[in-house]
Amino acid sequence: MSQEFTRRRFLATVAVAVPAGAVLMNAATATAADLPKLDPNDPSAKALLYVPDAKNVDTKNPMAARYAAGQTCANCQVIQGKDGEAYRPCAIFPGKLVAAAGWCSAWAKKA
Ligand code: SF4
Repeated sequence: MSQEFTRRRFLATVAVAVPAGAVLMNAATATAADLPKLDPNDPSAKALLYVPDAKNVDTKNPMAARYAAGQTCANCQVIQGKDGEAYRPCAIFPGKLVAAAGWCSAWAKKA
């Protein structure tokens, strides 16, 4: 293998690796603020009765039978992100933010 070929191969590898690394870095440093808010009309949100304000839970829906006043995304087991933020990631709706004041039928008491 010639020295020139090795140099070219190295440069080609760097040319591919640097942008790929930059993409990975951006993904790793993406913050919750970069995620879109979950649309209550999204089919997956509707399926779990998600509402951005727990005051609007459809208590007549049998799927909301477990709902009790005081339950919100902020005190749900699967909420992610930082306490105090109005919108936070949720493990049930990956890639979306849910309202801390919201609720869905997957609510589970924080341990
Ligand atoms: S699973 Fe919990 S945090 Fe996620 S939307 Fe439902 S109630 Fe909110």
